[in-house]
Amino acid sequence: MDEKNISAENSFEKKPKNFIYEIIEEDIKTNKWNGRVHTRFPPEPNGYLHIGHAASICLNYGIARDFNGKFNLRFDDTNPEKEEVEYVESIIEDVKWLGGDFEDRIFYASDYFEQMYNWAVELIKKGKAYVDDLNPDEIRKYRGTLTEPGKESPYRNRSVEENLDLFERMRKGEFKNGQKVLRAKIDMASPNINMRDPIMYRIVHAEHHRQGNKWCIYPTYDWAHGIEDSIEKITHSICTLEFENHRPLYDWFLNELGVYHPQQIEFARINLNYTVMSKRKLLKLVQEKFVDGWDDPRMPTVSALRRRGYTPEAIRNFTDNSGIAKRDKVSDISLLEFSIREDLNKSAQRAMAVLKPLKVVITNYPENKTEELEAVNNPEDSSMGTRKIPFSREVFIEQTDFMENPPKGFHRLIPGGEVRLRYAYIIKCEEVIKNKDGEVIELHCTFDPETKSGTGTSQKKVKGTIHWVSANHSISAEVRLYDRLFSVEEPDADKEKDFLELLNPNSLEIISNALIEPSLKDSKPGTRFQFERHGYFCVDTKFTTKEKLVFNRTVTLKDSWGNKTK
Ligand code: ATP
Ligand code: MG
Repeated sequence: MDEKNISAENSFEKKPKNFIYEIIEEDIKTNKWNGRVHTRFPPEPNGYLHIGHAASICLNYGIARDFNGKFNLRFDDTNPEKEEVEYVESIIEDVKWLGGDFEDRIFYASDYFEQMYNWAVELIKKGKAYVDDLNPDEIRKYRGTLTEPGKESPYRNRSVEENLDLFERMRKGEFKNGQKVLRAKIDMASPNINMRDPIMYRIVHAEHHRQGNKWCIYPTYDWAHGIEDSIEKITHSICTLEFENHRPLYDWFLNELGVYHPQQIEFARINLNYTVMSKRKLLKLVQEKFVDGWDDPRMPTVSALRRRGYTPEAIRNFTDNSGIAKRDKVSDISLLEFSIREDLNKSAQRAMAVLKPLKVVITNYPENKTEELEAVNNPEDSSMGTRKIPFSREVFIEQTDFMENPPKGFHRLIPGGEVRLRYAYIIKCEEVIKNKDGEVIELHCTFDPETKSGTGTSQKKVKGTIHWVSANHSISAEVRLYDRLFSVEEPDADKEKDFLELLNPNSLEIISNALIEPSLKDSKPGTRFQFERHGYFCVDTKFTTKEKLVFNRTVTLKDSWGNKTK
């Protein structure tokens, strides 16, 4: 997607109110940060962004925008084994697309490695950090539990000189992975386990996507995160609730170093039902090919939602409406669907597409005649104008719009019955043609020329109106219909079963020979339509080729002008 398209869709409108806004308003009143507001979004480039990250971007960017502040994008790239350039690039694209405007402020934690190293040396010199030789298992055992205090490592009281020497040699690569770590020297008996001499550096002999082989010691998240915010002079470090218990540790580091100290504010993660948000699980779906990539339209990722036809506005409205809270909760996926429906109802051009075609021959309509009928592009927006649709003797209607033995209240086509073809004529079903297995394969109908939409003189009214395409003019397309990715509301809640067992086996239905009206022939990937009575669709950016258009159904229609076909 090019830059122009990305920025064309960007515009924040609403100002959400929540408890974080209240804190910031108070800080501005008391001039706590000299009126400054500076937020950031700090993803680890170890996967694609999902809807929860989108909420964090909207929140952090929204605050900067609403308080005339600044917003940074910062990659927390401290874990070389799991991080990749592909993720960095996708994250930049997604943040921009969502409208998070970081201007030229894109930062990488790995660019601060030297500074972090120097600060670690400072802590060693103060007697506040030491090199430990215990192996990871031993460290875990020594840490104690929630009810028992931890035990001090036998290496805890090494001299400053020895620590400085060992730490330097760790950096130089003299030791193997896991052989030594640098730990903060705080309190092994602290009721907060995070304060029991947390690890600051571990040895990882791995190539970093930006630093190459320059480093073989890498800072832990706990050590790095607070000081990254400090270096960038962030005012409000907004993070999710699981970091509440880490706050005393960040405070400790910043106080010991005597450096700039941002204020951390925690809020609850946004969760969505019928899906998973863990990057580890999403990666598994990708690697094991349960989906066609991170942007498979069934995934909860930003790139998947974009490919499926979501707009940034719809995602922003959803995150605003689901609210920023202090307690975890699961948002209903139908709220997300509601917000895209609202948006596309106003903006998407209408079109006719027949997903499961049944041929109709209009026996009293002249052969070789074609009429151009006028169709409204969007009844919600007259400025979108009209278009011409060809009509001829043979058309296709939806198989489900005909029933030989209809239940009561079926207002579409039945033997001997009448129905209106949208924007065209009223037709009457005269004869039902079946194959040798008794399946209906064709209908012979007659039309009434006086019933032409808009100009016909007939006063005749029928209860049903159905969509159609002209047999000779329609074009074939592939249409992909999606259902929930998981068959249960909270796939993470079931501890008995592996989450893969809870996947919905019917989450994707591919219709390879749908028929669409010819005006859609040259639609560009990414264009959104409403297929009347079927929902909103978007031309797929991945599988569409010169030969064949592929459409993803973004969302079904809630309201429709006819009777539903599905
Ligand atoms: P992990 O750290 O396990 O890889 P993560 O989802 O926390 O996964 P990060 O890249 O660390 O991934 O997240 C970047 C930012 O997005 C963090 O500030 C985090 O708090 C925020 N964030 C992540 N998930 C959600 C969520 N579900 N709702 C709101 N914010 C989230
Ligand atoms: Mg995280």
